[in-house]
Amino acid sequence: MSDIHHQIVVIGGGAAGLSVAARLARITPKLDVALVEPSDTHYYQPLWTLVGGGEFRREKSARPMSSLIPAGVTWIRDAVLNVWPEKNCLQTVGEQRISYDWLVVAPGIQIDWDKIKGLPETLGKNGVCSNYSYQTASYTWECLQNFQGGEALFTFPATPIKCAGAPQKIMYLAEEHFRRRGIRHKAHISYLCATPVIFSCPHYAKALMDNVIPPREIDVAFRHNLIAVRGEAKEAVFQNLETNEEVVRPFDLLHVAPPMSAPDFVKRSTLANDAGWVDVHKHTLRHNRFANVFALGDASSLPTSKTAAAVRAQFPVLTQNLLDAMAGKEPTTQYDGYTSCPLVTGYGKLILAEFDYDLKPRETFPFDQRVERKSMYLLKKYVLPVIYWDGLVRGRTWPWFG
Ligand code: FAD
Repeated sequence: MSDIHHQIVVIGGGAAGLSVAARLARITPKLDVALVEPSDTHYYQPLWTLVGGGEFRREKSARPMSSLIPAGVTWIRDAVLNVWPEKNCLQTVGEQRISYDWLVVAPGIQIDWDKIKGLPETLGKNGVCSNYSYQTASYTWECLQNFQGGEALFTFPATPIKCAGAPQKIMYLAEEHFRRRGIRHKAHISYLCATPVIFSCPHYAKALMDNVIPPREIDVAFRHNLIAVRGEAKEAVFQNLETNEEVVRPFDLLHVAPPMSAPDFVKRSTLANDAGWVDVHKHTLRHNRFANVFALGDASSLPTSKTAAAVRAQFPVLTQNLLDAMAGKEPTTQYDGYTSCPLVTGYGKLILAEFDYDLKPRETFPFDQRVERKSMYLLKKYVLPVIYWDGLVRGRTWPWFG
């Protein structure tokens, strides 16, 4: 096993890890920063909704990791296996032992496909699709095109997930696609979600339930959790979380939002809280027990909706508070839970949800964002990708600016 030391180690080269590493390199170039990331490709995951809806090819969401590693940052192309924060060190799958003075944990969320019986075997065939991976998002579009009528089911699991709006966004695109093809009258569309509400922020949930669901004639079943898929038989098995009964639903198209959890190496480390997430202070992003550890993004315990937009608000706070801590000061900046979900409600229609820890709207634009708008759809399709690629992952709070 080889031993290495870096002043700052960042785990994960996703939206969160790259933004912090890039910002540190930008504002304090003399720091010794290493980024541990196994993947040779970085994905702009928010695009996968539009890949599934046939608006983009999936390749548009991918860029070589090497093109995004900030100048001056050491890329350790390996996956973390264990972290021992008491000893300020970690171990990788490639048997490297890396010690650090400061640690930033950002390995994202783990997708637990195998927690649904039969799903791994049938995903990508038999009309079973998911926008939740690069490998499967294109098959969603195939399913939408091949659908000839019948039962179209869209699910939402009983765990926290990234982009909690994505499971329903693809449903609205499918519904409009079926109308465009003249087969809508042959389709019965159902949204089966484990949650008791359609969206966590009531301000937007009401708009969805009053203005979006009824005209599209979608059946919503709350507290229904997908537990098994029988691909060949084209049956989906749900557990009714109110009655505990099993409900079997036939399908012709099944879009699955899979269960998710913190990455296993986080769960088994002392970094984790009881639920498995990296246990950080909700305003400072500093670890609640290890003062030289910070976390952000999907793997963190921050009690907000897990999105890249949330990361955009988190990374300047984390970076500043980390630099404060390195200078021996208390953290000076605070994160208020800002998150955003561009709720695609059709081709050329979008409700831009923006809210904070208190589920209070934190809207950017001077109009009622609960209203479906084409301008907001164009923002998602053309502007947000630029903000991501030229701003966020470059460590800039806004493209072209510091
Ligand atoms: P990620 O970006 O997932 O990155 C995690 C990184 O950690 C990866 O590069 C991974 O390879 C690496 N990693 C994993 N394990 C290890 C390990 N053991 N060691 C080292 N590295 C490791 N967000 C929005 O803001 N708006 C949207 O419209 C939106 N839509 C979405 C639609 C879909 C279908 C999906 C899937 C996501 C969507 N998101 C959206 C969510 C957004 O993509 C995530 O919230 C965001 O990417 C989180 O950033 P992260 O860095 O925490 O995790």
